[in-house]
Amino acid sequence: MRRPLKQPQKRITDKHDFLDGLPDDLVVFILSKVSSTASSPSEFINILLTCKRLNRLGLHRMVLSKAGPKVFDFKAKNWSEHVHRFLKQCVNAGNLNACYTLGMIRFYCLKNRASGLSLMAKAAMKSHAPALYSLAVIQFNGSGGTKQDKDLRAGVALCARASLLGYIDALRELGHCLHDGYGVKKNLSEGRRLLVQANARELALVIRSVTSASPSLSQSDPSSSLTWRAGDYSVCPLLSDYVYNVAVPEVQPVGLFMREWFEMGPGRVELGNGLRLCGHIGCGRPETRAHEFRRCSVCGKVNYCSRGCQALDWKLRHKMECSPEEVVVQGNDDGYGGVELVNDGVI
Ligand SMILES: [Zn+2]
Ligand SMILES: [Zn+2]
Repeated sequence: MRRPLKQPQKRITDKHDFLDGLPDDLVVFILSKVSSTASSPSEFINILLTCKRLNRLGLHRMVLSKAGPKVFDFKAKNWSEHVHRFLKQCVNAGNLNACYTLGMIRFYCLKNRASGLSLMAKAAMKSHAPALYSLAVIQFNGSGGTKQDKDLRAGVALCARASLLGYIDALRELGHCLHDGYGVKKNLSEGRRLLVQANARELALVIRSVTSASPSLSQSDPSSSLTWRAGDYSVCPLLSDYVYNVAVPEVQPVGLFMREWFEMGPGRVELGNGLRLCGHIGCGRPETRAHEFRRCSVCGKVNYCSRGCQALDWKLRHKMECSPEEVVVQGNDDGYGGVELVNDGVI
C-alpha cells in the first residue's frame, strides 16, 4: 500500500510573508472586515498583538470605525486603562457602538454623567437605536438627577424614534406607555397593538437566530423551567411559557458588563446606600438615587428601570417567585405599581 506523499510543513512565517506582500490599504480593508465580524474582543485584539504592522494598521481609523458590538463585549473584571483608551480611540474614529458602550459605562459605572450622556447623545443623533432607548430610560427615571428631572414626554419621544428603527425594547416600552397613559395620552388599543408587535418581532428574531445557528429549539425539561438559574438572562421570556429556552438575540453586551461591574467588580462597593440594580437580569442598569426604580407592587422585593424590564422579568422569572404576602406600603418615586403591568395578559 502506497503511503500518501508527505506535504511539506508550512512555516508560520509564510502567513506573514503573504501579508507583507499586500499593500497597506488592502490589509486595512481585510482588518475592517475582521473587526466588523469579530465574535469577541480577544478575536480582534489578538490580531493587534501579532506584529507591529498589524498593530498599526489595526488601529487605523477605518478599522476602528467598523468594529462591531461584539468587539466591545468586555468583562467588567478585565476593565483597565488600556480598555478605556481603546474605546476612546474607537469613539474618535466615529464608531457608534463604542460611543454607546463608553457612554453607558461612564454614565452608570464611572458616574461621569455629563460625559456619558454626551457620548450616548452622539450615537443617538446618528440613529443608534440602543442609545436612543437608553436615553429614554434616563429621561423616564430622571437618572443622574432628582425626581423633578424626569421628562416623560422626552422619554416617549426617544422611545418612538428607537422603535421606528425596529428596536424591540423601545417598542415594548412605548406600548406600555400608551397602554398606561404614561408620558403620552392613553390609548389602550394602540398600546396593546405595539405590545403584540414587540412580542411578534422578538419571536421572529429568536426563530431566525435559531434556524441560522442550525441547532433546533431545545425543549427543556418542564420541571427545570420552574427553577431559574443565574446566567439565564439570555433566555427568551416569551418562549419560557412554552418551556422552550432559546437565547434572546438582543441582549446588549454592556448590560452584562454593568451587572458584573456592580455585582462582582469595582462598582460593588460604590453602589451601596440602598441603591439597587434593575431586577431584569439582562439589563444591568443601577439606580442613581434611592427609590429611583419602580418596584413590584405585589411583593415589593424587586425593582425595575422600565416597564419593559418589568414585563420581561415577570415572564422569565418573577412570576414564579412573586408572593403577595409581604406587601410594602411605601410607594415608588412615581407611585406606580407593577401588578397592572404584569397581569394584563398581553405582555
Ligand atoms: Zn432594566
Ligand atoms: Zn413581585
